[in-house]
Amino acid sequence: MILVRINKDKYKYDIHSLVKAFYSKEDVSVLTDEEIAKKEFDENDILFKIEIFLEEEKGEISMKIIRKDGSCAEAKTICATSEEGADSSTNGTSASLSTPKNALKQMMYRELSKEIGHELPWGSLTGIRPTRIPMQMLEAGKQEDDIKKYMQNTFFVSDEKTDLAYNIAIREKKILDDINYRDGYSIYLGIPFCPTTCLYCSFTSFPIVTWSKKVDDYIECLKKEIDFVAENFKGKTVNSVYIGGGTPTTLSPDQMTRLISYLREKIDLSECREFTVESGRPDSITREKLRAMKNCGVDRISVNPQTMSDETLKRIGRQHTVAQFIDAYKTAREEGFDNINMDIILGLPGETEEDVKHTMSEIEKLSPDDLTVHSLSVKRGSRLAEHIRNNGYFVAGDTGSMMKIAAESAKRMGLSPYYLYRQKNISGNLENTGYAREGKAGIYNILMMEEVQSIVALGAGTVTKRVYGDGRIERCDNVKDITLYMNNIEEMIERKRVLFSF
Ligand code: SF4
Repeated sequence: MILVRINKDKYKYDIHSLVKAFYSKEDVSVLTDEEIAKKEFDENDILFKIEIFLEEEKGEISMKIIRKDGSCAEAKTICATSEEGADSSTNGTSASLSTPKNALKQMMYRELSKEIGHELPWGSLTGIRPTRIPMQMLEAGKQEDDIKKYMQNTFFVSDEKTDLAYNIAIREKKILDDINYRDGYSIYLGIPFCPTTCLYCSFTSFPIVTWSKKVDDYIECLKKEIDFVAENFKGKTVNSVYIGGGTPTTLSPDQMTRLISYLREKIDLSECREFTVESGRPDSITREKLRAMKNCGVDRISVNPQTMSDETLKRIGRQHTVAQFIDAYKTAREEGFDNINMDIILGLPGETEEDVKHTMSEIEKLSPDDLTVHSLSVKRGSRLAEHIRNNGYFVAGDTGSMMKIAAESAKRMGLSPYYLYRQKNISGNLENTGYAREGKAGIYNILMMEEVQSIVALGAGTVTKRVYGDGRIERCDNVKDITLYMNNIEEMIERKRVLFSF
């Protein structure tokens, strides 16, 4: 483990995230002196220690890295005396000093990259939405040069990732400028059932075999939530609908039709720009289900191979084959779907760059409209985390190189990056990127990721987000447990009523 000692109970989350970005496989503890005094540590477990001394009132922050052999590296930085930064310095330094948080992160980044011997692609940025920085600066009228310099000088973002973030922000802005999203909202419906549970899963997902008899009751609860939305959001425009999960295509054609028809009957979707259904697991897709969705006006689906290796699919518990995936994809094309996304994951257990090259060349033969490239994220509590605990880590290839292979392949297919997000504990400290053909970008993905409008989420384990005009965001969630969700459906609705102050 890496032990970070800090003299004040501040910036712990940022410190933890940054150290973790460099040392993803190590446990990291950020503790104050009092907290350390109450704990016992086995010195043998500690890889090295970091001490951070914050004196923002004096505009100073210092740090020390104490290595196992007793040697030290020390650093000191100056900063503004408050997070507001400008004009708040008491020590005669200039008003353009970094805020204490940025100065701390910059100093830590410099010292840790020296210690480990390499830089990070996203520099000191540890948040999940790095494109928000260029996006906000574009909206404030800043020019390309200023935006890129800011990302590189303040956060040490690499040239490659700076270009990626900037280009995505430009594309997102163009798409958003064409949608009246400020007066609208989007709807998310969660179907928390899957054929089996994937090794890396961190979503709300329960095996359909266990729950099949309860699915109709679950749909009835979704209908109650739809009634609430219909009644309270009357007159507001729905910009996009996304049915996710889980795997929505675990519903039968009749259940799918019943659910979507009810939604359409109760809520005016005439202005809706996109209706997506995640059809992720090929082992849940049938021609009848695809036809039912098409008849209900679904215009975008996602059929996800994750990898084109049968061996890996077995290893990660997907329980479908590559052949099944290809068959599901071709059937969807035959049924008239002209906007199909594919998800792949880089850094899967045992996979090498060669496996990714193979996956991409097989995908190129199918020519999807969208491609979402994920870097594997190991979530605490997932079966994957347990697998790693029991079997050790599985570094078979370099996720950064895999990312380049996927990006080049996307380019060959005529797909350009249009949205991006990062997760905690993501393989290679990289990102997830959505690529799309012109005119096929997933609108819901942009609206949700840029947090520019409210998303009303229905179903177990979903989170509703209210975005205010000034950018403030408030959330309320539905419980994950399906039985609790169904037994307390009125309370789930009440939470939304309170959030939106109806
Ligand atoms: S298909 Fe998705 S939601 Fe279902 S188990 Fe796999 S990762 Fe989880």
